Amino acid sequence: MAPISKETDFLVIGGGSGGLACARMASSRFGVKAMIIEGKRLGGTCVPKKVTFNAAAIAETIHHAKAYGFSIQETAPFDWPAFKNKRDAYIKRLNGIYERNLEKDGVEYVHGWGKLLSKNEVEVTTDDGSNDGFFDIDKLPGKVAIVGAGYIAVEFAGMFHSLGTETHLFIRHDTFLRHFDPMIQETVVKEYQRLGVKLHQKSQVSKVEKDEATGKLTITYKDASGGETTVSDVDHLIWAIGRKPATADVGLEKAGVKLNDAGYVVVDEYENSSVDGIYALGDISGKIELTPVAIAAGRRLSERLFGGEQFSTTRLEYENVPSVVFAHPEVGSIGLTEPEAIEKYGKENIKVYKTSFTAMYYAMMEPEDKGPTNYKLVVAGPEEKVVGLHIMGLGSGEMLQGFGVAIRMGATKKDFDRCVAIHPTSAEEIVTLK
Ligand SMILES: Cc1cc2nc3c(=O)[nH]c(=O)nc-3n(C[C@H](O)[C@H](O)[C@H](O)COP(=O)(O)OP(=O)(O)OC[C@H]3O[C@@H](n4cnc5c(N)ncnc54)[C@H](O)[C@@H]3O)c2cc1C
Repeated sequence: MAPISKETDFLVIGGGSGGLACARMASSRFGVKAMIIEGKRLGGTCVPKKVTFNAAAIAETIHHAKAYGFSIQETAPFDWPAFKNKRDAYIKRLNGIYERNLEKDGVEYVHGWGKLLSKNEVEVTTDDGSNDGFFDIDKLPGKVAIVGAGYIAVEFAGMFHSLGTETHLFIRHDTFLRHFDPMIQETVVKEYQRLGVKLHQKSQVSKVEKDEATGKLTITYKDASGGETTVSDVDHLIWAIGRKPATADVGLEKAGVKLNDAGYVVVDEYENSSVDGIYALGDISGKIELTPVAIAAGRRLSERLFGGEQFSTTRLEYENVPSVVFAHPEVGSIGLTEPEAIEKYGKENIKVYKTSFTAMYYAMMEPEDKGPTNYKLVVAGPEEKVVGLHIMGLGSGEMLQGFGVAIRMGATKKDFDRCVAIHPTSAEEIVTLK
């Protein structure tokens, strides 16, 4: 078939969270002729992950139900293939919604992989063979090994463990979630160990062998003592050691776009790349790799480029971005960790308020079923401005958003104290810290 040639005024490569937000706003709000190219499918990865987390949370609730007087089978069977089919169908529906939204907003959608031929020319080719790793697993594994200490590794480990899979997590240091406050690192590590996740601290995977007859893996790793140990009969090995930006084969060099040593596109605070008229945002710019960050950056860029004078300095501010880890228990964090606050303001100007308790939800349960709840508020200066909030325990994911608003507005400890508590909740402990 002869190649088709098209022209547009605003071309977005990548129909993930950032690209969709940017293209849609450019077209629907500012009337720009926009086109988006996506090689795989529209939308991101967080939704299927969260749906799987919900399944794991339900497994935990079933386990807890007995303590509340329900006579329930301890190990309710979980039909992973039926769950996966339903989850895939939901994601397909969402992809359809994203496609219809593009149409409604007047953005032209081109399916395929975009490659720059020059600053103003992009070639599109198709290849639908890409797989989805974790999301392709079609039956509940008996045993998994996960390598990595970031939030994705920790979330996957928590989900598999709660669903009944023997879960091995290999980390290079003593703790995981190492960008989070030490309180979070230490407590979640202890909790995972207590729950029975097989955590291999200070370990390094050195060899992976596959038994061709059974398909099972044997993983050899250097353990904390420096010796070699193996874990065998592993169904799946998941490497979650950080994502690489997909910048290697996109022709960026043809347009003269600069990358840093890690392969991220070098951008300034306005998401401008080194080439006039080419911008990069979201994961590919290596700032904060979260869906709402990519969406917000995409919208701000469209406003700045097409919104006229009033938006000429609009940009996303990357401070005080709340984030949540759907671990078991959930983690929420915004602002500076305690060590970061000390480094920024000096130890003498920092005060830390913290509490740790057992949430009322666990009151009816045996000691071994009770999970921890820990909160830490980091404040700075004589006015005790809140510069960090770190929470861990039931409901933390939903709890953090509102506190995020207050902290963005510059709340002080006094403002927190002045807010009347909601009782009986865990969140009330955050406004009654002494
Ligand atoms: C397992 C997992 C769980 C996550 N969970 C969460 C979460 O709970 N909350 C959260 O906020 N974030 C989460 N994230 C992070 C979040 O998915 C990303 O930060 C977000 O999607 C970034 O948006 P983006 O637009 O920069 O990139 P993406 O959403 O990754 O979109 C980039 C798109 O570009 C396409 N593409 C790449 N190259 C080309 C090309 N040459 N031509 C055409 N198309 C191309 C890709 O196919 C992709 O669809 C998770 C990530 C993973 C992997």
